[in-house]
Amino acid sequence: MHNILLTPGDGIGPEVMDATSRVLGWYQKNRKFEFQAEEALIGGTAFEKVGRSDPDDTIAKAKKADAILFGAVGGPQWDNLPFHQKPERGLLRLRKDLELFANLRPALCFDALKDASSLKPEIVSGLDILIVRELTGGVYFGEPKETTTLPDGQKRAVDTQVYTTSEIDRICRVAFDLARLRGKKLASAEKSNVMVTGVLWRQVVTEVAKDYPDVALTHILADNAAMQLVRNPKQFDVMVTDNLFGDVLSDEAAQLTGSIGMLPSASLGAKRADGKQWALYEPIHGSAPDIAGKGLANPIASILSLAMAFRYSFNRGEDALLLEKAVDTVLAEGFRTGDIMQKGMNQVGTAGMTDAILKALDKVAG
Ligand code: NAD
Repeated sequence: MHNILLTPGDGIGPEVMDATSRVLGWYQKNRKFEFQAEEALIGGTAFEKVGRSDPDDTIAKAKKADAILFGAVGGPQWDNLPFHQKPERGLLRLRKDLELFANLRPALCFDALKDASSLKPEIVSGLDILIVRELTGGVYFGEPKETTTLPDGQKRAVDTQVYTTSEIDRICRVAFDLARLRGKKLASAEKSNVMVTGVLWRQVVTEVAKDYPDVALTHILADNAAMQLVRNPKQFDVMVTDNLFGDVLSDEAAQLTGSIGMLPSASLGAKRADGKQWALYEPIHGSAPDIAGKGLANPIASILSLAMAFRYSFNRGEDALLLEKAVDTVLAEGFRTGDIMQKGMNQVGTAGMTDAILKALDKVAG
């Protein structure tokens, strides 16, 4: 019996979560997937209801869950709240309290969508890369982090990039393990030419590589990685990088494949005392306030996040493949939400796309 926490959040979050719950129901009925699901408040919606975007109750439930399925947080109505009350605070606290240090961001190009990329189809066709981003260290968390006023009246802002050996070691091991399950190629991106954290990063990854002789490791400067991603992305299999570079490079990689509404992500944490591992699964897109409440959101990113949960939290790789195949099928059949609409295709909304995926599941499960 798997214990799942659903945190729909804000904007289109509840809409894509509803779609994902329907898919969960299909697996319960047709694939003997036994689970208990519970919902909890997070983000701006939580702030409105209980005065905090990161309620303690939600964090406590998250700690007990085998997997968290997260929608999205944020919206213009909360933009002027102080930093500690903003909707994003809910997600940041989950990442911190559950030590979700490994962010897995696949960038996969579905064949039916190769023309939707801003790059030439031959460059993105068949693309399947995985970016592993360190998520709980680096410049977003390093101290000091402050703005001071200098004697001459101008402001001075400081962020601090900091990494320890153990932080680098554990993220690199996750990346090597994943590379082993895929194409056995790992690229490590840093800026060892100008940053001491980059020098340490390169030393540690080189050391860890000795435990993975079957994986080919290459080092690449992060700025070159950004260029290579648009020049020849298929040269990469798995890429590991720090929090800041990973934020930028994984968004760049996502854009290669067409739409932000298509891509899932997983954030994995430390192993718990009971042998399980905290994990949070979420679409990479935000709360899309411009289309929220209209039934237009593409649910595929959220639904593919569930596929990642099957693979990484529930040890049900076959169920993950089934779901990915169902998505492939509906795209090949011509179903499109507005964000991925192409001429001559069949435009549907969130519910229509979900219906089509459920039908395709029936078909591919045969
Ligand atoms: P966004 O991802 O919400 O939207 C960017 C554009 O993509 C919009 O035009 C939107 O309509 C479209 N889009 C996104 N997801 C879609 C989907 N599933 N189907 C169809 N179209 C989709 O990014 P943004 O506009 O920069 O941010 C909006 C809010 O979301 C902000 O408050 C931001 O802070 C927040 N945000 C949250 C997360 C998160 O919860 N993890 C991530 C990014 C942004």
